[in-house]
Amino acid sequence: MKKKALLLALALAGSTTAHAQTAVQPETAPKESDSSETTSQKAVSEIDKLTIIESLQSIKKDPSQVKFHSAMCYDMAMPPEYTTFSCPTCGGETQYHYQSYQGEVANRVAHLLRSLSQIKAKTEVDFSDFCSKCSKDNDDQPELRFTTWCLDCGKSFGWTANSIDELEQLPLLFTSFPVTEVDQGHLGQQKIEPEKLSEYLSNRLLCPACREKHGLK
Ligand SMILES: [Zn+2]
Ligand SMILES: [Zn+2]
Repeated sequence: MKKKALLLALALAGSTTAHAQTAVQPETAPKESDSSETTSQKAVSEIDKLTIIESLQSIKKDPSQVKFHSAMCYDMAMPPEYTTFSCPTCGGETQYHYQSYQGEVANRVAHLLRSLSQIKAKTEVDFSDFCSKCSKDNDDQPELRFTTWCLDCGKSFGWTANSIDELEQLPLLFTSFPVTEVDQGHLGQQKIEPEKLSEYLSNRLLCPACREKHGLK
């Protein structure tokens, strides 16, 4: 009898959720006349695009509206000396000092690949500089390279994360829009100054031309 009641409760809960999901308001977004529909690589809908651009413009104007807070601390008291980079392309393994830029990249491979889909503009990451087999230019400083297809026009552009600080900023890109709060990570440490948040996000979601167009330079 108890079980039956529970099942009924579950069924009811299920139907409420389903209802909530289908009851999304059909919003009418103002049309943007000059955005050319040249690409099929659209990661977000027109409505989402507008929400994101308006949020970026609004936090540029008033960064204080975003709540910055610090959460858990992941620092290990005694980190191991070495860490292993497992190449997502060839599977090859390369050892790095745990507390180096390369080591920090190695420790983030899985999480980064899992989180890419949370970025509002389609983004790919190239780890090849960190793999002893895939790396082409061994002499140069390794770079974590990203390719993003502009949220607005769909054109691709490149950017990099070349320091531990920049690696720690990457989760800022996983925030949802409109931006209302930001997790600064480690207590007492700041990933980004509030005044720079709009610029940081704009530079990684929009191509230079679209940044200019929307007053986000
Ligand atoms: Zn490789
Ligand atoms: Zn663009």
